[in-house]
Amino acid sequence: MNVSTNAMAALAGSPEQSELARHVADTMAALTKIYDRGYFLTCWREQRFEAELWSRMGELGLFSVGVPEEQGGMGGGLAGMVQVLDGLSSAGLPTMLYSLTCFSRTPILRHGTPEQIERFVKPTMSGEKKIAFAITEPDAGTNTFRIATKATPHKGGWRLNGAKVFTSAANHAELMMVIARTRPYTPGASRREGISVFVIDTNHPGVQMTPLNIELYSPEQQFQVFFNDVDVGPEALIGPEGQGMETMFDALNPERLLSAVLCIGVGDFALAKTIDYVKQRAPFGRPIGAYQGVQHPMARAKAHLDAARLMTYYSAHAFDAGGNVAATANMAKYLGAQASVEAVDAAIQFHGGYGFDADYDVITLWPIVRLFKVAPLNDEMILNYIGEHVLGLPKSY
Ligand SMILES: Cc1cc2nc3c(=O)[nH]c(=O)nc-3n(C[C@H](O)[C@H](O)[C@H](O)COP(=O)(O)OP(=O)(O)OC[C@H]3O[C@@H](n4cnc5c(N)ncnc54)[C@H](O)[C@@H]3O)c2cc1C
Repeated sequence: MNVSTNAMAALAGSPEQSELARHVADTMAALTKIYDRGYFLTCWREQRFEAELWSRMGELGLFSVGVPEEQGGMGGGLAGMVQVLDGLSSAGLPTMLYSLTCFSRTPILRHGTPEQIERFVKPTMSGEKKIAFAITEPDAGTNTFRIATKATPHKGGWRLNGAKVFTSAANHAELMMVIARTRPYTPGASRREGISVFVIDTNHPGVQMTPLNIELYSPEQQFQVFFNDVDVGPEALIGPEGQGMETMFDALNPERLLSAVLCIGVGDFALAKTIDYVKQRAPFGRPIGAYQGVQHPMARAKAHLDAARLMTYYSAHAFDAGGNVAATANMAKYLGAQASVEAVDAAIQFHGGYGFDADYDVITLWPIVRLFKVAPLNDEMILNYIGEHVLGLPKSY
């Protein structure tokens, strides 16, 4: 199947970006022939990190895509990182840690000091360090403003205490971006005030983690993470104290776009598998792929996947150009989740009973795409945002 990723990535980009986009597309195609879906599932079964894939990506310079050339990277911005992840997920390797690392380092590049870039971003360019992202808390849930993890001034630096939940791949990451309150929410004050962004080492003795029992058919697990007197230096604070919303949204908008392309890629992977299957399977003598009742849901899903992909690349390029992408990043993530659920649903349907056999690796694609209607921001909150900020309707929550 022609996924047209190359052309999409080049869209709206400069000639230089197009050249890099072509290089990334070729590199990803070759890489995922070696590290394929079978490799990903082996790592899942063995519950181990995709170390060989990660190490090869480092050798190929793929982690430096998205880091400006002035910082020693290959450039390409968020659009470049989206394209790398597109290459992975379209091959059936939806690696969240790539997404987490890329979107977490983006605000450091934009708001961090040269020392912070040196310390937190540079080691991610070789793959030596990976970054987990911890914002969700057990009680606050979707309402980030209610987070209770706090950072208090301590010996010239900060002391963190609190708990996070659903932190993906925390055990595989050397660094963690933690959203904490440096000032408690006080009724009457702006709820944005007092939120700050930190980067800490996950091997700090005050960081403990417990795995959650979440089944995504992925080598990456989710964790409840506890911070008990995690003392860090002043360099752990990214951007201004208490004014972390702007810093944070330079992570969250990229997160939406990387999440979008992660599930869009899986949707395409599911369709590609299903195309092969329906060309062969012929219970009535003709391949089932010849029936319109089979073709149309797949064709519809493909149209929706490509529309979502276009919006994702468009938004990533707009982000790189310094635009405000809050609306289009939300829309891209919403559309990407819808389209990939539609694609995997069609894949299950047209594999019939075998769609439910984990050995056919179709039902195994369902949790990872369905997840993105809930995380990192649920469909309802995205629609709330569009209702309020795009349509100009009253705030509904
Ligand atoms: C596999 C997985 C990986 C994750 N990885 C990470 C990670 O790496 N880092 C991290 O910080 N978090 C992570 N999360 C957390 C994820 O982002 C949250 O689960 C999500 O934001 C929702 O929070 P909640 O589960 O507490 O849902 P709640 O806030 O309890 O909401 C439950 C449901 O209520 C509805 N709802 C809530 N508020 C509203 C509203 N205002 N209007 C309408 N409907 C509403 C929605 O349908 C929502 O799904 C992950 C979660 C999962 C399952």
